[in-house]
Amino acid sequence: MRPSQRLQTLAATFPRLRIDYLLITHLPNIRYLCGFTGSAGALLVGGAEPVFLTDGRYIEQANKEVLGARVLIEKKPPLPAAAEWLKRKQAGKLGIEGGHLTVAAEARLRALLPKPWRLQPTSGLVERQRMIKDPAEIDLVRKAVNLGSSLFGPTLKNIRPGVPEATVAAKLEYAARQAGAEGMSFETIVAASPRSALPHGRASATPIPRHGFVVLDFGVILAGYCSDMTRTVAVGRPSATERGWYDAVLEAQLAGIAAVRLGVTAGEVDESARKVLKQSKLVKYFTHSTGHGVGLEIHESPRLAAGEATVLEPGMVLTIEPGVYIPGQGGVRIEDMILVTKTGCEVLTPTTKDLITIARNA
Ligand code: ZN
Ligand code: ZN
Repeated sequence: MRPSQRLQTLAATFPRLRIDYLLITHLPNIRYLCGFTGSAGALLVGGAEPVFLTDGRYIEQANKEVLGARVLIEKKPPLPAAAEWLKRKQAGKLGIEGGHLTVAAEARLRALLPKPWRLQPTSGLVERQRMIKDPAEIDLVRKAVNLGSSLFGPTLKNIRPGVPEATVAAKLEYAARQAGAEGMSFETIVAASPRSALPHGRASATPIPRHGFVVLDFGVILAGYCSDMTRTVAVGRPSATERGWYDAVLEAQLAGIAAVRLGVTAGEVDESARKVLKQSKLVKYFTHSTGHGVGLEIHESPRLAAGEATVLEPGMVLTIEPGVYIPGQGGVRIEDMILVTKTGCEVLTPTTKDLITIARNA
């Protein structure tokens, strides 16, 4: 079986890392490398050909989905099955995914392999490869982003004083599934008025008050790829102070987008957005990083945070999402997904960022 380009790229890093094999157990990494979308299995890369080990429940699915690796249907769970398979090979060094394999699983694997075998934890190998999306992935990301954005307009009609946040979220999620989403990228955030000051205020039973901001942060999964967007709308006319928060966050978000260029570091993008909020004296209320990579998982590398040295490259898909959260009063966040290009970046999220006001007697 000829390994796919993704598997070949991965295996090319082994000599430098001085490993002979790499055991991949993190399911999104397995999906990325060989296409398997099920929930149990292990991929062993190295030697003559990659092998994918899974159990009888997945015979049909694995044979249909897996590309570039030989499928082995095993009676044992993936780890013991992988150890059995390795025992028949010449002993060497086995890389494991240090960020994903539990301490208990590592100990079990160590006990299962004969003495000359050695284990070596590796860190973020497949994740680094996944940072740069290929054209097929970018196409899937675009579709997920467009589906996600298409839900925003209809959701606005559900944001009215007296309607519980959870009802807004439930209707949005129902519409997402009806439009073909496999699920939501994360728990939908609908946070109104004082609750909008909670950066991760998941939708509660609290009714939307007659005045204040409503932060709406949601994403859908389509063909495995996640979308992520945030818009903040005002119920009733915002005060001058509130309007000031919104304008400052929007300016910071645009500054973050403008800073995205090939060769710039993730930390520099964060700094550009943060600088605007520093000038508006709101930076102490900006309590999280400016953004993150998105793909098969909702939070991927790189993190757009202070001091992050990862250099941006074309094909990276990132969020730019500054926010301010004033305790007890309210908060604003604006989030788009962007694609790093050779000449700068393309904003993928098509939704307007003008402040939308919903009438208090709507
Ligand atoms: Zn988000
Ligand atoms: Zn996000």
